[in-house]
This record gives sequence, structure tokens and C-alpha cells, in this order.
Amino acid sequence: MSRQSVVPPVADRLRRLPPYLFVQIDAMKDRLVKQGRDVIDMGVGDPDEPTPNFVIQAMERALRDRQNHQYPSNRGLQVFRVAIADWYRKRFQVRLDPDSEILPLIGSKEGIAHSPLAYVNPGDRVLIPDPCYPPYRTGTILAGGKPVPVPLLAQNGFLPDLEALRRKAHGAKLFFLNYPNNPTAAVANLGFYRELVRFAQKAGVPICHDAAYSELTYDRFRHPSFLQVPGAKEVGIEFHSLSKTFNMTGWRIGWACGNRQMISALAKVKSNIDSGVFQAIQLAGIRALQDNGSHLKRMLRIYQTRRDLIVDALRRSGWPVTPPKATFYLWAPIPKNRRSSEVASEFLQQEALVATPGVGFGDHGEGYVRFSLSVPTPRVREAARRIRRLALWPHPSSR
Ligand SMILES: *Cc1c(COP(=O)(O)O)cnc(C)c1O
Repeated sequence: MSRQSVVPPVADRLRRLPPYLFVQIDAMKDRLVKQGRDVIDMGVGDPDEPTPNFVIQAMERALRDRQNHQYPSNRGLQVFRVAIADWYRKRFQVRLDPDSEILPLIGSKEGIAHSPLAYVNPGDRVLIPDPCYPPYRTGTILAGGKPVPVPLLAQNGFLPDLEALRRKAHGAKLFFLNYPNNPTAAVANLGFYRELVRFAQKAGVPICHDAAYSELTYDRFRHPSFLQVPGAKEVGIEFHSLSKTFNMTGWRIGWACGNRQMISALAKVKSNIDSGVFQAIQLAGIRALQDNGSHLKRMLRIYQTRRDLIVDALRRSGWPVTPPKATFYLWAPIPKNRRSSEVASEFLQQEALVATPGVGFGDHGEGYVRFSLSVPTPRVREAARRIRRLALWPHPSSR
């Protein structure tokens, strides 16, 4: 008698998720590490520097308080929501009601992936940028929705062409956007956000704007919030996170803010799935938000040094790149006749250097590879040497 598995095949929603495109690169990387090769991983975007001491100290104090050991409130601590409102007012001159317009999240990825559950019925369309941070697409699919890719093209500064989008947008339930952008490192300005608010009003599509990298900007550039535009709160929400600004990716804390109906719908979804953010982490988060800016200043100097090292190495070896104004990514074009997965494999084989193939972020990511600057500076220097040995582009002097 053959033994049959009692475990059924996985649900359709899991099968509909796109295949994980980095399996090959991951496997190749593991093989090289086992062989003892000195691999530099510029694939993942995860700050290498530690969480600042003042945040850890606030966490230590909060851990000792037994009141923080019980279930947190689903809506989050009022003091944390007030700290977020204060930060938005000081940083962006945006006023938010801590009680109805702010919702703490277990990392912004959690809120992003759960948002479609609040608004998307099976078969509904959701506009997602292409290329994009994967949870916009996968969250839509898990809710039974249909992701509609919105191309981000170099010729438009990797901003969506809202004019061209008008017809496609009709009936869509949500529109995800993200500036400063992962993976392209593109930025937006208030003019664009004004158009976006007008677009949302006319097309009747609410906006989910992801601002995880708003603080990681260079050359004195300051990135605006989508909520700065009058009327933005009527058409959407903004996701934010302490992960990238304060090197807190492992802590899992972020928030959504803006439109109160959308906040309340997301809170309803979440109250049925999770039980909120550990209160000690929220209290440490308050301390992070109250920082005078010296931590961030130091981090930006570090990332800028790394950015300049890699941009210089890429340019010297013929890559047509300009220094990005924000994020810790470099979105580097590859020659027209090459595929990003093949180029990434080559880098790994030849120089033990991991870069992410652009196609992993969507069809319009083909033609690029992404380098992440979240590796220690001495390793970035070594990566720069390795990049200069790669002969992907014709050498500038030979053109
Ligand atoms: C890293 C990142 C986030 C932050 O995720 P958390 O869940 O808050 O750690 C959000 N959006 C984008 C585009 C990111 O790259």
C-alpha cells in the first residue's frame, strides 16, 4: 500500500505568487562561501551599522517595566502615536491626529502586505510600480487581487507616467508608490505629489505611499512627504519605518498614517491577525524619533562615502551612472544585449560579488543590477576594486 500524504497541495493563492527569482544567485553564493571564497554581498538592503545606543538604552529601561510584558493595544501606545505626530509636524509640517490618523505596524512590510486585505476583492486590480519592492505585488496576490504593473522608466526619472495611466487605472482598488525608491534610488518632488493627488481624485484610486527611505538623502537634498500636499489625506496613506533611518530592521516597527478610513480599515484587518507591537519597542521608538539628528548625520556620511566609492569605480569601468540623491542603492544599467541574471552570475563567479538582478523586481527591472551600500566601508573599498576588474562595458578611453 502506498503511503499517501495527508498534507494537501498548497492553496491557489500560494501557487499564484511569483517564483523566487534569486534562488540561483543564492545557491551560487552559498556554494562559493562553502568553497572558502571571500564573497561580498551587496544584494540585500539591511543596514550593517548597529542600532544607536540611546535607542538600546530606552529599550533596556522599557524591558524592566512589567506593564510592557502584556499584550499591547492593537492601536499602539498613545505616547508612540503622539511622538509620530510630533515628528511629522517637525519634519514635514504635516498635522496628524494621533488617535485616528496613525497606526503602528510590526514593520512597514507587515502593513503594506496586509493593506490589500482591507480593500481588494477577488479579481480586483491594484496598481503597482514595476520594478518594485516585492510586498506590493505579493500582498495583492495573497488578497486574491490582480497586480497591474505601472512601468517606471529611466526617461521619466523612474516616476510613473500618470497621463498614460488614466485609462488603466479605472476601477483599481489601490495604487502603491515608493519614493525615495527601492530599487531605482529615484526621488520625487512636491510637484509630482500634487499631480498624484489630483490623479487619485480624478481616477478614484486611493494611494499607498511608502516613504521608508525619506531620511536617507544626500548632498543636502531633503525629500518631501506625500502628505504635504493639501488634500493628500483625503486620498491616501503613507507608510513609514524606523528600520532604515535608525538601523532597526530586526526590531520590527513602523507605522501607517493619513486617511482615517484607510487607517481604520487596516486596523480592523490587523486586529484579527496580530496583537500589536511589543510596547518596549514602541517606547524605544519614541526615543529614536526624538533624536536630534546626530545619528542620521553620521549614517548619511557613511553611506555617501560608500556611494561615491562605488559610483567612481563604476564610472571608471565605463558604466553610465550618476550618484543617486537618496537610498542606499545603486541602480546600474547593463549593456542592452545582456540579461541582468546572467550579469549577476558572472559577477559572482568572477569576482565573488553579489548584486541583485533587476528582473527580480519586475519585468521593467531587466537591463539593470542593484548594488546595496549596506556593507562595511572596507568591504565597499574591496568591492570597488573588484568592479574595476570587471569588463562589462567598453572601457571609457577605448570608446
Ligand atoms: C526596507 C523597506 C521597507 C521597510 O520595511 P520594514 O518592514 O519597516 O522593515 C519598506 N519599504 C521598502 C521599499 C523597503 O525597501
